[in-house]
Amino acid sequence: MAGRSDKGEEKVSAQYSLFFIQRFKGKVLFNVPLSEHTSLKIGGPADVMAFPQDEGDLKDLLSFAGAKDFPFFVIGGGTNLLVRDGGIRGIVINMSEGFRDMVWQDNKAVIGSGVRLAEILNHCREAGLSGFEFAAGIPGTLGGAVAMNAGAYGSEMKDVVEGVELIGRKGQRLFMPRSEINFSYRKAELPKGALVVRAHMGFVKRSAEEVREKIRELREKRRSTSAINLPNAGSIFRNPEGTFAGKLIEEAGLKGERSGDAAVSDVHANYIVNLGRARAKDVLTLMALVRDRVYSRKGIVLEPEIKVVGED
Ligand SMILES: Cc1cc2nc3c(=O)[nH]c(=O)nc-3n(C[C@H](O)[C@H](O)[C@H](O)COP(=O)(O)OP(=O)(O)OC[C@H]3O[C@@H](n4cnc5c(N)ncnc54)[C@H](O)[C@@H]3O)c2cc1C
Repeated sequence: MAGRSDKGEEKVSAQYSLFFIQRFKGKVLFNVPLSEHTSLKIGGPADVMAFPQDEGDLKDLLSFAGAKDFPFFVIGGGTNLLVRDGGIRGIVINMSEGFRDMVWQDNKAVIGSGVRLAEILNHCREAGLSGFEFAAGIPGTLGGAVAMNAGAYGSEMKDVVEGVELIGRKGQRLFMPRSEINFSYRKAELPKGALVVRAHMGFVKRSAEEVREKIRELREKRRSTSAINLPNAGSIFRNPEGTFAGKLIEEAGLKGERSGDAAVSDVHANYIVNLGRARAKDVLTLMALVRDRVYSRKGIVLEPEIKVVGED
C-alpha cells in the first residue's frame, strides 16, 4: 500500500481489502490519484478512496478506521481543494456518490450531502423557491458547501440551512440546528471529524419567473467576471475585510503570472488555473509569490480560501 512502511508494520492493504470485501457496500479505489477527483486536476494518491452508499456504510467505515487508527479525510466534489503531490494517507471518504436523497415539502427540503448544488437549484427554479439563487455557478456537493459556508453575491449557505444531520467520528448521529452552528465567512464550525450527511433547508416561495430571472442575472454576472475554461478551484484567497482579493492581485500586476503550469488567471486574478501539467508545488509557489507581492505592494496579507491538504 502506498505510503506505508514495510518494516514489519501491519499489512494495511490486506486489512483494508478484507473489510471492504466483507462489509462495505459502496465503491472502493486503492492508490487513486486525487487529480482525478479535484476540479484543479491536481493531487497525489489517496491510499484508499471509499464511497459510502449510505449511513450504514459510513458508520462501518468510521468504526473500522477508528479501530485500526487509520486517518480519514472527507471530500465532496473536490472543487475547493488543493491536494499536495504526496497525496493523502489513510482513507479518503468520498461523499459524492451516496447520500443523494431529496425530500421536498412546500418551501422546505431535507437533502443528502452528495447532491450537487446545481440539482437543488434546478428544483428551486422549477418550484419558484427563492434564497438559493446565489449558488448558480458554484460547483460541488451540498456537504462541501455546508462545510465551507459557500456563498456569493451577499448570500451564503447559512441563509438557507436550518440544520444539519451529521455522523460523528465515532459513528454517532447528531443533529445541529442552525443556531448551534457557528457559521462565518467560508466556514462552518462542525464537531471535529464529523461528516455532514444531510441538510435541512428552507427557501422563500416566489413565482418561478422571478426565481428564473434572478438565476439568469447572477449567472450572467458570473460569466462576465469569471468565464474560465481551465481547471481551477474557484477563489484561491479569501476577500480581506472591505476589499477583494482579485482586485489586489490584479493591481499588483499578477494576472498571467506563472509557476510551472500553474497560472494566475487572465480572466479573474483570484483564480489559479492549471494549464495542463501543474503540480501542487507549482500552485503553492505561485500562491506564495502572490501573497508576497500583494503584501509588499498593498500591505495586506492574503489568506487562502481553498483547503490545502495532503503530504508534500
Ligand atoms: C469554478 C468555481 C467557482 C466557485 N465559486 C464559488 C463561489 O462563488 N462561492 C464559494 O463559496 N465557493 C466557490 N467555489 C468553491 C467550491 O465550489 C465551494 O466551496 C463548494 O461548496 C465546495 O464543495 P465540494 O463538495 O466540492 O467540497 P470539497 O472541495 O470536496 O471539500 C471542501 C471542504 O469541505 C469538506 N467537506 C466536503 N464534504 C463534506 C461533508 N459531507 N461533511 C463534512 N465536510 C465536508 C472537505 O473536507 C473540505 O474541507 C467555486 C469553485 C469553482 C471550481
